Amino acid sequence: MLRSGEDYLASLRDGRQVYVGGRLVEDVVRYPGFAGGARTIARLFDLSASDPSLSYVEPETGEKTNVNFLRPRSVENLAARRQLHTAWANVSNGLFGRSPDHVAAMVTGMACRPEVTGSTRFSDNLVNYWRYIRDNDLYLSFAVLPPAGSKSGKSGSVQNAMRVVGTDRDGVTVRGFKTLATGGALCDEILVGNAQPLRSGDEAVAVSFGIRANHPGVRILARKPYAAQAVSRIDDPLADFDETDAALYFDDVHLPWDRVFVLDDPRASYGLFVDTPGHTLGNAQAHIRLLVKMRFMLAAAKRLGDALEFTGNPAVQGVFGGLAARVKMLEAGVVAQEAHPESWPNGYVSQDRQFMYATSNWSMEYFPEFAKEIQIMLASHAFQQPADVSAFDDEYTRSLFLELNRTEDFDSALEKYRLIRLMWNLVGSELASRNQQYELFYAGPPHVTRTRMWDFFDWGSAEARVEDFLAQDTTTPPTRPSEQT
Ligand SMILES: Cc1cc2nc3c(=O)[nH]c(=O)nc-3n(C[C@H](O)[C@H](O)[C@H](O)COP(=O)(O)OP(=O)(O)OC[C@H]3O[C@@H](n4cnc5c(N)ncnc54)[C@H](O)[C@@H]3O)c2cc1C
Repeated sequence: MLRSGEDYLASLRDGRQVYVGGRLVEDVVRYPGFAGGARTIARLFDLSASDPSLSYVEPETGEKTNVNFLRPRSVENLAARRQLHTAWANVSNGLFGRSPDHVAAMVTGMACRPEVTGSTRFSDNLVNYWRYIRDNDLYLSFAVLPPAGSKSGKSGSVQNAMRVVGTDRDGVTVRGFKTLATGGALCDEILVGNAQPLRSGDEAVAVSFGIRANHPGVRILARKPYAAQAVSRIDDPLADFDETDAALYFDDVHLPWDRVFVLDDPRASYGLFVDTPGHTLGNAQAHIRLLVKMRFMLAAAKRLGDALEFTGNPAVQGVFGGLAARVKMLEAGVVAQEAHPESWPNGYVSQDRQFMYATSNWSMEYFPEFAKEIQIMLASHAFQQPADVSAFDDEYTRSLFLELNRTEDFDSALEKYRLIRLMWNLVGSELASRNQQYELFYAGPPHVTRTRMWDFFDWGSAEARVEDFLAQDTTTPPTRPSEQT
């Protein structure tokens, strides 16, 4: 089934418990901090429903289905997935990190190799869950980390982290915190699990499951919504792309058995991500989305540079050349992942994991520099501007700002103001800082992202060259210059 945006919005009025500070939000669709984000997601569903290239006919059902849920068996399937990620990223210019194609891609990848769960019962649960989200075209967020302070490194030390507190004939009861569900306030379902390795002794937290956002006992504790402070579309042009983040509290939540994918198994709970194509399909979305965002940022900066008349300067052109090179380096990572697909058991493929983890590492290292170079270009321009667009309504302040901009042309002064507001929202504002933090941490903390490269780099073939070299005959003396002809 392909869902409409309207159906999605209607489904959010389900009694979910979303808190902003001490307030319980009655209707997330109307709440100013979330309304724009909800509308943006609704646009994604409408786009898929109207563009045939973004759906496929699912062999199990014969139904038109969002490509998001396509279990890839070929390079063509990976290309179709890329097309969807690109089309959806274009809607928010790459600012929606956990759009509905991120976590669904992970579950789709997990459903390619469900035997990692370790039991037929849990494998069936996982595949049936994939079928359920696929056939209802659902938006998932995920919370796959314990809360701050609970990672002492000692097994069994995670006291406030969500853990199993009981099992019975009907299911499992969990209690405690999980972080950090980006999109948690606006999703249909939440995937809960562990995307970082656990130790033996951590069995109580080694549980993975899927749960409806309004399930009894699920509390969604949202961070400050920046969109709630938006003044106008001109002053805050990216307010509709504030995707929300939330800590989750599970207040003795009882899950039915058929939603449980892993229980008491530290390796399987982590393995769902890294021993299946799940992590790879999900991170491929992140890279394709970031490419859309970096292109947009580069082009907007260039347009601003043209308006402020500094792009004619060769030194500035050099800076832009460096920024453009970074965009193409990211594109190279995306192309390489898809050009060398990795084969998995059961006939599925994913993007290449070495290129995928290399791209995660690269973007974590180089996106902050990219944003900083653009911020340097902005210099004081954001602060030379009026406090808000109302300055253009008053005749006196309007004439002053036109003079400051050395123009009598209202439209060009307004365009410059809009561009500067856009750039500040991309690199300088509170939303921009949050988004930069997202690019640093979307795949996990830097030390873990680097370690994944350690885990997956093809050390064998690289070291074989060194071994060959060391195996060379060392008994013959080296050739001396005087002996050369
Ligand atoms: C904007 C944003 C959105 C996010 N969205 C999601 C989401 O949708 N779902 C989800 O599950 N998670 C999400 N995360 C969480 C993200 O995965 C975590 O931020 C990340 O795993 C780090 O965990 P932490 O924030 O608890 O920091 P901590 O683990 O407390 O780490 C704090 C700092 O110490 C460093 N550090 C800790 N241990 C070590 C070590 N052994 N060696 C070196 N350095 C170390 C970390 O790198 C970090 O700089 C999001 C994070 C951000 C910022």
